[in-house]
Amino acid sequence: MSDPEKDTRIVQSGRRREWTLGAVNPAVVHASTVLFDTVAELREAGKHKDKTFYYGRRGSPTSYALCEAINDLEGGAGTVLYPSGLSAITAAILAFVKSGDHILVPDNAYDPTRSFCDTILPRFGIETSYYDPMIGAGIAADIRANTRVIMAESPGSITMEVPDIPAIAHAAHARGAVVIMDNTWATPFFFPALQLGADVSVMAATKYIGGHSDLMLGTATANAQHFRALHDFSGTMGYCVGPDDIYLALRGLRTLGVRLRQHHRNGLEMATWLQERPEVDRVLHPALPTCPGHEIWKRDFSGASGLFSVVLKEGSDQAVTAMLDGLRHFGMGFSWGGFESLILSYPNIARMRTATKWPGPGPILRLHIGLENMDDLKADLDEGFARFRALL
Ligand SMILES: *Cc1c(COP(=O)(O)O)cnc(C)c1O
Repeated sequence: MSDPEKDTRIVQSGRRREWTLGAVNPAVVHASTVLFDTVAELREAGKHKDKTFYYGRRGSPTSYALCEAINDLEGGAGTVLYPSGLSAITAAILAFVKSGDHILVPDNAYDPTRSFCDTILPRFGIETSYYDPMIGAGIAADIRANTRVIMAESPGSITMEVPDIPAIAHAAHARGAVVIMDNTWATPFFFPALQLGADVSVMAATKYIGGHSDLMLGTATANAQHFRALHDFSGTMGYCVGPDDIYLALRGLRTLGVRLRQHHRNGLEMATWLQERPEVDRVLHPALPTCPGHEIWKRDFSGASGLFSVVLKEGSDQAVTAMLDGLRHFGMGFSWGGFESLILSYPNIARMRTATKWPGPGPILRLHIGLENMDDLKADLDEGFARFRALL
């Protein structure tokens, strides 16, 4: 699907009349109990629990609409919704592993994904090892007889390396492993994960799908070979999402294309500006050559979102704190993907890596560039760098 086709799809998908009742947007259906007129009708519905409106936890016209729209954009066999991005990741992993299995996770994975692998999976006899995200086809050497899942994330969290997903998927499939990809950063709008080799594409819809920093939601979309296992596991575990959050996610999805293109433009403009700053050692933005995997980004992605990092040459915690505390246009806080700009500092990234060595030299700033005026944002950072330099 080309970008223009995607633009039409994200506007039109999931808008069946039976779900919208003729309005543009689907009905927001608040329901636990669904009533049936006769025993025969109830029994008939029970044969198609996920396709007919049967019980609130199993889905509603509101959730069917979002599942269909996301699935259409991903090009999958089916999509399941979860109450957060993290729960989508953990469910997708658990759907495919059993006691005695081994999984591979990139060293730059989203930190809560690591926590799950390090603290929950061992309780069920599942071992995790971490790999260098730039390993590419070399991952074949890390695959064991019991390796069941290979996780991938592109680009990786905070340090932004762009892995070779097709090469990793090729090696995984040769050995019968399932590739689960966290596609939160680019979304399928800029990176068609399933077409490039992932079996399951996971998103924190909390971020760019919602786009307004006001909801928590995760999605997992699988190809035909893996959807049944993902779907049945998730149904048995009881995951479901309230209709108001689903409605907000659908509303966000309709403008994903225009927002992402603007985040791309603003993010790249800011990354290029930061590259010239004397305080900055290098910019970790996939669209710039200083980011590991930049060539792979050029080959596989059709755009960049608004999230990237910069490595400073030096800087004490005190200097970074003085810079961040005084910012007027950048918020500080977790998550990203909304319309607003955010900044966080990571003084010690080396602590979060076990398979690779982080070269430094200084602290990392991670920025999400929102939809504000760029001159305002640059002036804000410029003043921040003055406060930073004063304490060096
Ligand atoms: C934020 C994030 C998640 C988790 O999403 P939540 O909705 O906050 O649970 C997962 N993966 C990545 C890469 C993220 O940035």
